[in-house]
Amino acid sequence: MSDAVVLLSGGLDSYTAAAIAQAEGFRLFALTVRYGQRHVREIEAARAVAARLGVEQHVEFDVDLSVFGGSSLTTSAPVPKNRPLDTPDIPSTYVPARNTVFLSLALAWAETLGAGDIVIGVNALDYSGYPDCRPEFIAAFERLAALATARGVGGGTFRVHAPLLTLGKADIIRTGQALGLDSGLTHSCYDPGPAGRPCGQCDSCVLRAAGFAQASIADPLLSRYSGPDSD
Ligand code: ZN
Repeated sequence: MSDAVVLLSGGLDSYTAAAIAQAEGFRLFALTVRYGQRHVREIEAARAVAARLGVEQHVEFDVDLSVFGGSSLTTSAPVPKNRPLDTPDIPSTYVPARNTVFLSLALAWAETLGAGDIVIGVNALDYSGYPDCRPEFIAAFERLAALATARGVGGGTFRVHAPLLTLGKADIIRTGQALGLDSGLTHSCYDPGPAGRPCGQCDSCVLRAAGFAQASIADPLLSRYSGPDSD
């Protein structure tokens, strides 16, 4: 059995990507980065997902990108709501170079473990226009990993698995269903209420809702918050 480091955010996509890698036979080492995001709900979701997957080890790593700011996810700037998603604009929820930082940390742990595989749940279709979710970026990072490491100098390689890269949200949700995943453990909203209730209007909520609707599956997360508003 090979070891793989998986970047686990607590969202639906990273949970599904991790489960795909696990089904392929990888033993998972999960890395969750606390990057200074405004809410802790997604860290709690990452813990629940890691426990459900039965990962070998789950590391929570602090890299406070809010020191730089530059994103509505790490500052008090408002998260865009009900934004048209068919524009080429990169939204304010983009966190400068976040996936480069995250993959670099995953690479450091993978090389330490002697693992040549990294798993990330990026998606090039429903990705809100983030430049570090593109296939070219993933391919370039694999080249960087080979150049940047002792493993690479020794002739070894690193593979960055991005199994959701070309899937639509509905297909990601269907894949998760087929793997028996509990989507109710995950968290997607960029701007949840104090008790974690999804806002329903940010890009992430809108994409998630559209995906479940298209897959004709009820989102179990919503039934959790269908009672009296606890926020
Ligand atoms: Zn939301």
